[in-house]
Amino acid sequence: MQADRLAADSASDAALAAARNAVLDRLVADAPLADILTDVVRRLEALEPEMRATVLLVDATGTRLMTGAAPSFPDYYVRGVDGMSIGEGQGSCGTAAFRRAPVIVSDVSRDPLWAAYPKSGPKVGFRACWSFPFYDNAGKVLGTFAVYFAEPRERDERIVRLIEGFSGLTALAVQKVRASTALRQAAAIIASTRDAIVITDLTQRIVSVNPAWCTITGFAAEASLGRAFTDFLAGLQHGEHQTEIWGHVAQNGHWQGEIWIRRKNGALYPLWSSISPVHDEHGAPHHYVFVMTDIGKLRESEAQLERLAHYDPLTGLPNRLLAQSRLAHAIEQAAHHHSQVGVLCIDIDHFKTINESLGHLAGDELLCGIGQRLAAALRHEDTFARWAGDEFLIVIENVGSPDELARLAQTLIERTQAPFTLGNGQSVYLGASIGIGLYPQDADNAALLLQHTDTALHQAKAQGRNTYCFFTETMGQRAQQHLELGRRLRLALERGSFTLHYQPKLDVRTGRLIGCEALLRWDDPTCGLTQPERFIPFAEESGLIVPIGAWVLETACRQARQWLDEGRAPLKMAVNLSARQLWQADLPERIGAILAHTGLPPAMLELELTESMIMGQEAEAVARLGQLRAMGISLAIDDFGTGYSSLSYLKSLPIQVLKIDRSFVRNIPTDRHDMEISAGIIALARKLNLQVVAEGVESAAQLAFLSEQGCDAYQGYLYSPPLPAERFATLHPPVAAADGH
Ligand code: C2E
Ligand code: MG
Ligand code: MG
Repeated sequence: MQADRLAADSASDAALAAARNAVLDRLVADAPLADILTDVVRRLEALEPEMRATVLLVDATGTRLMTGAAPSFPDYYVRGVDGMSIGEGQGSCGTAAFRRAPVIVSDVSRDPLWAAYPKSGPKVGFRACWSFPFYDNAGKVLGTFAVYFAEPRERDERIVRLIEGFSGLTALAVQKVRASTALRQAAAIIASTRDAIVITDLTQRIVSVNPAWCTITGFAAEASLGRAFTDFLAGLQHGEHQTEIWGHVAQNGHWQGEIWIRRKNGALYPLWSSISPVHDEHGAPHHYVFVMTDIGKLRESEAQLERLAHYDPLTGLPNRLLAQSRLAHAIEQAAHHHSQVGVLCIDIDHFKTINESLGHLAGDELLCGIGQRLAAALRHEDTFARWAGDEFLIVIENVGSPDELARLAQTLIERTQAPFTLGNGQSVYLGASIGIGLYPQDADNAALLLQHTDTALHQAKAQGRNTYCFFTETMGQRAQQHLELGRRLRLALERGSFTLHYQPKLDVRTGRLIGCEALLRWDDPTCGLTQPERFIPFAEESGLIVPIGAWVLETACRQARQWLDEGRAPLKMAVNLSARQLWQADLPERIGAILAHTGLPPAMLELELTESMIMGQEAEAVARLGQLRAMGISLAIDDFGTGYSSLSYLKSLPIQVLKIDRSFVRNIPTDRHDMEISAGIIALARKLNLQVVAEGVESAAQLAFLSEQGCDAYQGYLYSPPLPAERFATLHPPVAAADGH
């Protein structure tokens, strides 16, 4: 007996060793898991002729077992077992996987664990079934290894040891095959993704790159491996920037942000990048992974849009928007350095007559010619822009004395007076009037300085043209007007002469009413109904906009709440916010209080801001808008395209809506340039996941174009002008009434 036992043991050991070698060979050869498991099962079965075996594997959900190998069982049995639940009473295997312990059932026809499967044993010809769970290195159950006997069979330690050996081997095979499958999948992802992926060692030396890295940078893998990652960065990104990035990685375990690399062809290129360390089993970093998304395409479309939006297509000069932004920037600098900025607004005398008599082509030719002549009188650093049809604007920084500007104005006038010869040989005589404004004497901000320069221009024209005029000379009279306007506005606020009109906003696709914009109206007893553009700039300048704006917010919120209470469908109420309001320290509290006592849900309020309010203080804006957004209020950028949009900051602002300025909608479908800008803004908004609303839609053709481009919503005279509350209410009946109940 003893001798038999020893012989059997050594035969089992030999078989197990042979099986282990076979498994290793197949693993090295990348054989499919099913083949390896079938082989293991067959080898065990060969050792004990009356014994059959199966391997079941826990599925991805961890709740069911699937067949891994069962070569000696009929197909229908295998199909029946596939997907069996893991749990108490689910046969030997389901129970063993559930208990995480071997389950020895000596007679399936008597054991309660098999009560749910009374027919399986007799049908397939077995009476005993012993099942052994096997585990991965972390102790998780991977599956079960089970043996079946034709007759009832009690536990037998020799066979148990044998099965333990084989099930250990099975666990090894399953883990190895799965790990190499996961690696292969990861490698395929890394090879096929469009994101560049670079792996470096701890000194940032590149040890691996993927094909996308090569495509984006133009550097082959061989040219990248072994080099420092920083070799590929644009110069600006060295030094402090690096210290900051790596400090962040050390502290937070990762970093995300924009980096600029230098491509093989020398061009700088932006990538949105994330850096994370890869840790070894002791938690110490041993590599870094850089994943970089190509944002160059987005940047190109932004840049193109910026070009379209900021240069005049006829003369190639900066347009009004760019000029405004340059002026704002110059004033900022001047405020810092206590210097002066001069603005000259040049209007070509009688240009309209020439345009009409000689035709528009000749007019265009003249404008380009004048542009060139005037530009030649300026320094490289001066801003020279096409301001409007026949008006040019010049911004001069670091003005020494007003005399300099007077001399320049005189030169410019003389240059326009020299005769022009058109392409057809005809000679034309022109002249110019110039208005001059000076920072800081005439105004402390760009908008007001422009307004004052314009006043000076009118004065110059009134003085008989071909002359220039400083604003300072006309100031006395304006100051008087301002005092008067301030007094009347204060009175209006006290007497309640302000009202709000509401302009509908509609969904472009469905034509449904989705919201409205509250627009301020001043019904003055002496001057009648005054448009906001006549008094808001002044209210802004004098600070009166703060109490007026508070009244607007309060009234609009109360109105929206009242419409809700009357059973009308909820509409988003948009309110225009002025710069002064936006930067009030307690704005969030004030709005919170208004929402609380009017009872308007914050989600129904939208605030419209303009780009210029944010320009130059992007970081503060992110914080302030973040506070408003956190209250649940939605935020829109109004008159989009008219500010100098550093489009990249848009991404960082928590805004939901872009409103395309009326000026880009007005000339659809005749002006290709405006159409490109509108289409560009819509496409950009799409990319940034923002809603786009078009303003000032007056014709069906405009709406059709916007709809085709994928614009979300619109407002404009086509559907309705701004209306008093009672008239607006008729467009928006209570829901029950609309249903006809
Ligand atoms: P906005 O916010 O861009 O308002 C849209 C302006 O376009 C409104 O002029 C509206 O009447 C006008 N509009 C609407 N549809 C059409 C159209 O189809 N064609 C044309 N040609 N115009 C259209 P409004 O009411 O004169 O307001 C002018 C500006 O005054 C507003 O521009 C806004 O910047 C400012 N504003 C109005 N109410 C307030 C207010 O309560 N607070 C502040 N801070 N600003 C306000
Ligand atoms: Mg608005
Ligand atoms: Mg607007």
